[in-house]
Amino acid sequence: MMTAQKLDDLIDQLPKVRGTLTVDAPIARLTWFRVGGNAEVLFEPADQDDLQAFLQALPLEIDVTVLGGASNLIVRGGGIAGVTIRLGRPFAQISVNEMTIEAGAAAMDITVSRKARDCGIGSLEFLNGIPGSIGGAVRMNAGAYGSEVKGILLEATAIDRQGNLYTSMAPGLGFTYRHSDAPNDWIFTSATLQGSEDSSEAIAARMEEIATAREGSQPIRERTGGSTFKNPEGQKAWQLIDKSGCRGMQFGGAQVSNTHCNFLINTGAATAADLEGLGEEVRRRVENETGVLLEWEIKRIGALPVVGVPS
Ligand SMILES: Cc1cc2nc3c(=O)[nH]c(=O)nc-3n(C[C@H](O)[C@H](O)[C@H](O)COP(=O)(O)OP(=O)(O)OC[C@H]3O[C@@H](n4cnc5c(N)ncnc54)[C@H](O)[C@@H]3O)c2cc1C
Repeated sequence: MMTAQKLDDLIDQLPKVRGTLTVDAPIARLTWFRVGGNAEVLFEPADQDDLQAFLQALPLEIDVTVLGGASNLIVRGGGIAGVTIRLGRPFAQISVNEMTIEAGAAAMDITVSRKARDCGIGSLEFLNGIPGSIGGAVRMNAGAYGSEVKGILLEATAIDRQGNLYTSMAPGLGFTYRHSDAPNDWIFTSATLQGSEDSSEAIAARMEEIATAREGSQPIRERTGGSTFKNPEGQKAWQLIDKSGCRGMQFGGAQVSNTHCNFLINTGAATAADLEGLGEEVRRRVENETGVLLEWEIKRIGALPVVGVPS
């Protein structure tokens, strides 16, 4: 983290906002893994105009990071420099127009899938059980059980680092497996999703099937970050990890889940360094055993901790 003087300088440069600015904000509690250092400044905008005006006025040399539900993130122990933006309730609205749903970026995937079910809008069932936000789902092209955001997104609205507002049709976002080519500085603020007419009962039944399948195969009640590594083309990451003898492997307070070995879990006292270190050890062993170098799906953000300071 920066010195007190540098932090004061950063605070001096922050534009006036209607939302909330918090200095030295704890972030671990906001993440699924429950690890990581503090954000130098956390900004929770009052609405889209507040976010846009803030970005327009914030000096460009100040780093900006955006968090969604933090369900696919390891925040490193040294914390996050600059301004961390978290979209809250003002960005969580959901509205329905025939078979389309417009959702704010902070609306949770699960809430959106339930709304779709209640309105008889099919094709969004896979979002039930992905514990992130719509903004994170667009950024990650989230998917499950054969469906992904790419297949249901009509358009998304985003603001870039300079505060320019964009609306992009889905093909312009360059979706590939768990990835969007949208510029890295885009902060999605809303998304319009297209479903198809179906009965609420049939949708509910499919959601139930998905929930049951997850319950039996994933450590969904643990402190985890979902799939740690992307599936290499034509292969399953968990099978490669299993074959390499990593199931259940531990490093500090981090463990490769016994239930689903592409999930890492914080067994209670893990640090971000334990989790990232364990992930790197899994990658090394899998490469030695199978020749495949796994690619992280989980985003690791923030700075490494200063040696001797626990994270
Ligand atoms: C138990 C469990 C099960 C999971 N199962 C699945 C699954 O089946 N399928 C799947 O795809 N994922 C799964 N995940 C991973 C995760 O839920 C998804 O990747 C989710 O889409 C991440 O959304 P988020 O809001 O939590 O994003 P975060 O984890 O907060 O962020 C992920 C990335 O998105 C960026 N981001 C977040 N919000 C925005 C925004 N508004 N604008 C621009 N960028 C943004 C962040 O900067 C970061 O780079 C699972 C996770 C857990 C813990």
